[in-house]
Amino acid sequence: MFHEDKNNEKNYSLKDNLKKSLKYAKKRKKEFLLYFIGNLFLCIIGGIAPLVSAKQLLFLTDGILGKFLWISIFVFSIEITRNFSGYLTRKYSQIFAREVLKDIQIDMAKEVLRIETADLDKKSSGVIINRLTNDTSKIADIFLELNWSITDVITNTGILFAIFVINKYIFLFYVFSIFLIFFLERKRINIRNEMDKKYRKTAEKTTGLAGELVRGVRDIKVLNAGKSFLKNINEKITLLNEQRYQMIRTNRSFRLLIDCIRDILDLALIVIFIYMIKVDMITISSVVIIYMYRGRVFNLLSYFSDMLDYIKDFNLSAGRVFEVIDSDEFRKESFGTGKIEKVKGDFEFKDVHFGYEDKQEVLKGISFKIKHNSTVSFVGKSGAGKSTIFSLLAKMYHAKSGEILIDGKNIDTLDEDSIRGNISIITQNPYIFNMTIRENLEIVKDGLTEEEMIKACKLACLHDFIMSLPDGYDTMVGEGGLTLSGGQKQRLAIARAMVQKTEIILFDEATSALDNETQQSIQEAINNMKNKYTILIIAHRLSTVINSDEIMLIEDGKVTCAGSHEELLKSSKDYKQLYNLELKKNKTTS
Ligand code: ADP
Repeated sequence: MFHEDKNNEKNYSLKDNLKKSLKYAKKRKKEFLLYFIGNLFLCIIGGIAPLVSAKQLLFLTDGILGKFLWISIFVFSIEITRNFSGYLTRKYSQIFAREVLKDIQIDMAKEVLRIETADLDKKSSGVIINRLTNDTSKIADIFLELNWSITDVITNTGILFAIFVINKYIFLFYVFSIFLIFFLERKRINIRNEMDKKYRKTAEKTTGLAGELVRGVRDIKVLNAGKSFLKNINEKITLLNEQRYQMIRTNRSFRLLIDCIRDILDLALIVIFIYMIKVDMITISSVVIIYMYRGRVFNLLSYFSDMLDYIKDFNLSAGRVFEVIDSDEFRKESFGTGKIEKVKGDFEFKDVHFGYEDKQEVLKGISFKIKHNSTVSFVGKSGAGKSTIFSLLAKMYHAKSGEILIDGKNIDTLDEDSIRGNISIITQNPYIFNMTIRENLEIVKDGLTEEEMIKACKLACLHDFIMSLPDGYDTMVGEGGLTLSGGQKQRLAIARAMVQKTEIILFDEATSALDNETQQSIQEAINNMKNKYTILIIAHRLSTVINSDEIMLIEDGKVTCAGSHEELLKSSKDYKQLYNLELKKNKTTS
């Protein structure tokens, strides 16, 4: 029931990810430069401040008060400069990160629209949603977080330098401590990183499932599938929590270990001090200064590990985002360069074979020709391959072999506009955007005039209904607005096709029983389009079949017979059987 993704996430190197992220950073050169200058100031100040402060303390402990005053004024001006540099760095790094986030998200949304339908079929919606929201933010955050941790590391490295000047043995002791803690932190981060990868995969599945819960809530209720759905979501959430808890537990255990080692190192430092004072290797005032700075040296270690954390986090998120933007895991649709300015609407399938990913062939060498401005109905059992023909015609999938021609041109040679700009698909349950009726029509045509809009809705037999609404064309539909019936949605989709003025209209009739009036309105809307457009219909009703110029019977991925209703009744036993079945069904329902 629930779609599982294969866990085959691609690993990009940090260098690749940085290179790709820098492409976005380069677009915001001005902000980056100001942020870089501010940061540079912070680092320089951070580097010299501890040395100056050490000197300041020495003047105080040695009782040289005059110099102590001057150096204190100098320290004050350094701190004021630090405040302003911090303000500038914060401001521009925030603007920079915000703009980079916007650019990456827009780029990703653009690429999502280009992903091959076959690859989208394989993924749950959570894969895209989580990467578009969480992971892109993490890439942008890196510019902020990394900035601060690098500044902190450099600033506190200045303290190490000051300690080096005061006493080389203590300096060596600190270098040893840094390496020891660095080694443990690296171990912690590597373990956490592996856990985080699994956690994010589960999070994608949970988001996908939550999306299905919201979208499918009505069907889940009607199917009485609430319990099984909850069981599934419960399993995912429990697993998600467990994985999150594991990460927290690992971090906590390592924290305890590292904190204990810090305390042991602290104690060792005191022992070293006592020994060195006894053998006259250090003065008491130097010990006071170094001891005062020890907190900052150890903080240097946590800043350093934070930095490693951010880098790993960045690498993981960037890998996941760039996988969507440019990897084989999410192949992008490709189109030819050929153009058809004004499509006539003739098309042909020539020995087309097709199957959905590794599965059995659905279309098994199907061939047929359709003349422009004719109305053709496809009939046949469910699963015979009728909708697949529509999907191939709109190039949602690629034929494995054979040719699909529009106006005599192979669709593989045509550009996207020549194909999709000339074809409208009206599905059984068309997607209506959560906007006003007007906006739902404007979305397919920029600068739609009132006149065009009304004309389209009149042809789609929807105008009178819209005018009966208090807000007319400005009525909100979809979530939080007016809920349209299946028939109304189909008519709005027909109006969208009329607005788009596509020459080819593919219409998948609703199988669900529509009331007579709605059926008539839809039939009238189709009749309004007849002889002006090439109309292909997946027909589930007799009225549509009888009215079409040609009927094709699709059986097991092939056209087994074609002709007008009368011709087929005479020539095809299968068609006659299907027709009689429909007739019987109609009698029982009427
Ligand atoms: P029809 O429209 O005649 O009912 P379809 O073209 O929808 O038939 O489906 C033909 C076959 O292809 C069915 O066996 C169906 O399960 C399969 N199929 C349809 N869409 C997909 C898809 N996106 N992925 C995998 N298989 C699919």
